[in-house]
Amino acid sequence: MQGREKKIPEQDRKEAIMIKVYLKNARIVDGTGAPAIENGLLVYVSAAEESGEQQGIVYVGKMDEAVLAQAGEKDRIIDLKNEYTLTPGLINTHVHLDLQMPGAGFRLDPLGPAFRALKAYRRAAEALECGVTTLRNVGGGDFFDVAIRKAVEIGMLNGPRIITCGWTLMAHGGHGSEDYGAIECTGPTEFTKEARKLLSKGVDWIKVGMTGGLEGAHEGLCDRQVTNEEIAAVIWPAHAAGKKVCAHLSDDATIYDAVTAGLDSVEHGYAMKENTCRLIAEKGKFYTPTLAVSSEDGVDYMLKHGFPKRNFEKSFTAKEGHRAAARFAHKHGVKVCVGTDMVPSDPVQRGCNATQLEMELLNEHAEFTPLETIKAATSVGAELCGVDHITGSLKRGYEADILAVRGKPDQDVKDMRNLQMVIKSGGIIWSTIPGHEARNYSVVGEGQIAEGGTYGNW
Ligand SMILES: [Zn+2]
Repeated sequence: MQGREKKIPEQDRKEAIMIKVYLKNARIVDGTGAPAIENGLLVYVSAAEESGEQQGIVYVGKMDEAVLAQAGEKDRIIDLKNEYTLTPGLINTHVHLDLQMPGAGFRLDPLGPAFRALKAYRRAAEALECGVTTLRNVGGGDFFDVAIRKAVEIGMLNGPRIITCGWTLMAHGGHGSEDYGAIECTGPTEFTKEARKLLSKGVDWIKVGMTGGLEGAHEGLCDRQVTNEEIAAVIWPAHAAGKKVCAHLSDDATIYDAVTAGLDSVEHGYAMKENTCRLIAEKGKFYTPTLAVSSEDGVDYMLKHGFPKRNFEKSFTAKEGHRAAARFAHKHGVKVCVGTDMVPSDPVQRGCNATQLEMELLNEHAEFTPLETIKAATSVGAELCGVDHITGSLKRGYEADILAVRGKPDQDVKDMRNLQMVIKSGGIIWSTIPGHEARNYSVVGEGQIAEGGTYGNW
């Protein structure tokens, strides 16, 4: 449980302890890959009434009249009439909350780090509105991610659980070196030194840009930019501190070497081949493809954000190899996660948000069944984030990070678009379910929907 403390007057404490929410006649997809429980029941303790006593999910299973009969006078029983499916909160494992776009209005603002941190918080809050209850921020300047993580943990601000990387390391002139939030290094000594500095600030992961990418005017997609000695020089101090290392990677041989050296998670893997996927699976490591960035919707997104033409050409070239890499990963049982590289709430051309887009792409182009796609977006992401003991699946004793969607997303993943309720740590963010309507929190303002992200004109 998170270290959230709320002062409840002594006379109200006793009653507060008792309040539970019973979601009955629910379809339940628990996130582990198990088939849906039809006609199910989920009971959780409401954080709105939290008291320091037992919180979270207290029952998940088939409808059980005996369990239902335990509901007290103050408890709430909500009938979902088997029209809604409950899933765990989503986990987006590749996000840059401080994403800067080349188009007008997205250049580094003159107000500096404080304003950028507010912008990043707004995007984190939007992600939560869209059902992303945990996200990993894979690089950004000024430790804004560490700050937001702290603010959420201590209950100062409502937001998703944040897994942090702090600043991104890369070679001098390497991938991302032109972005704000970059630390350039050359040689193992510099990489170790900068990794240690990041660790001392409390980051959860260290992110390294190891090869070229879709951006960068003077780099090829698969250029190797970081040596085996250099990545090893980041991995050992991170692992010694109990932290993990992820890397932006395109080229197959570089991925193979990095995973051999102990890298914990591969990002993008645009040109990753079958043999490397076998290795990643054997080692139990993770892969976040971010298929969104090389998709048609990704190209449209870049177009609308004023990216230069060379990015589109690179995306078109990368697309087929990128999708093949995700298929190889699926075939060999690699732990594949859902990450967008876009702001999680950003709307895309096909009519959903970036997180939903990535789930649909895994289903459409990488042979993930809808059920496997939900597993990727929940329990597998939780394992990557190191929070699989508290969230990522709907289990007794876990935090109540729960979504309700109308329809059967385990049969048609597009039903994830029909989000009707978001609960994080037992606290209702919003719900349109009849008899359970609520909007307890909104950072976007009354009557507005969360689709500012990079499109917001502030
Ligand atoms: Zn990225």
